[in-house]
Amino acid sequence: MPTEKQYFKPTRIEDAIKIAGEHPGDFCYVAGGTDVLVNKYQGNKECNCLIDLTDIAELKAVSVEDNHLMIGSLIKLDDLKKHEIIVEKYPTLVLAAHEVASPMLRKTATLGGNILCENRCSFYNQSEWWREAIGYCLKCDGDICIATGGRKACFSKFVSDTAPVLISAGAKLELHDLDGSKIVDLETIYTGDGIQPRNLSPTAIIKSIILPLNQDYRIVFKKLRPREAVDFTSLTTVISLTDNGDLKVVVGGVDPAPVVVDGSLNSNTEDFYVKKALAKARVVDNDYYTRKYRREMMHLFLEQSFEELLDG
Ligand SMILES: Cc1cc2nc3c(=O)[nH]c(=O)nc-3n(C[C@H](O)[C@H](O)[C@H](O)COP(=O)(O)OP(=O)(O)OC[C@H]3O[C@@H](n4cnc5c(N)ncnc54)[C@H](O)[C@@H]3O)c2cc1C
Repeated sequence: MPTEKQYFKPTRIEDAIKIAGEHPGDFCYVAGGTDVLVNKYQGNKECNCLIDLTDIAELKAVSVEDNHLMIGSLIKLDDLKKHEIIVEKYPTLVLAAHEVASPMLRKTATLGGNILCENRCSFYNQSEWWREAIGYCLKCDGDICIATGGRKACFSKFVSDTAPVLISAGAKLELHDLDGSKIVDLETIYTGDGIQPRNLSPTAIIKSIILPLNQDYRIVFKKLRPREAVDFTSLTTVISLTDNGDLKVVVGGVDPAPVVVDGSLNSNTEDFYVKKALAKARVVDNDYYTRKYRREMMHLFLEQSFEELLDG
């Protein structure tokens, strides 16, 4: 017998978490719905209970607390530019958000949803009949990874465009869950496993994304994709640099997790960090562009980014 479909629209975080706790393994939080609903209707991820977060006002606030910028997770990507403090302190976040999807999608899609956007692969993001025809892949009830010709690990790509910028600036998340609230480093939620790309408790809600205001970063963002709009990333590179030479390289679109390399220009050359990031990235042929081309472009983007940072 089919299970009853349910839709909830709570107005408080604790109510949303309570409803989630009452539907273990069979619910989805929905923010903008531009990722979760596409995956649901393509049969990639099923759930009978939808918990819509859009009426929870406290998820939409932007504030400054103790020299930190608190950005509510339900801020729409297109609305980031409306907050003067974000534009002034983190213009690259606004730029990265502007590079996501298309104008209409950005008016619905949220920052929280973007950092939790599901990993992608050209063998996974297909219709049900397409996936059935190739015998399904590891991320979708199959036995092997088709992109790698049969390996028993999933290499679906991490594709969020805003998360690399946030990680490069040391962003943290304020999480609320059944057992209370806590703050974690954004970088630590990504597992590197394409099947379970994040280690968040399923009932956890991101209340806000926290960025430091007492540190100035120069950040360069680059994105490779077939068309200038709508397409997901084939490669996203970000490098942040502080005045005292501390740097962070973050690369998306090439590995199941963001590739992160940090250090200082006082101890090693730019070339050292470029090579380190290239060595860490597990790029496979699961994209519009070939693995070889994306690796070459990663090298080029990172070199160009260092040039821009050091010249500017
Ligand atoms: C045609 C198309 C092109 C796209 N192009 C891009 C692109 O170029 N770059 C890119 O990064 N993305 C792209 N996307 C994916 C998606 O639109 C974005 O990632 C978007 O930011 C997701 O936000 P959302 O609010 O719609 O998330 P939703 O779909 O609502 O949710 C995404 C995930 O986050 C969870 N979630 C959302 N908010 C919270 C919260 N506060 N607490 C806990 N869990 C939460 C949901 O349960 C779900 O698992 C594209 C999508 C489409 C359809």
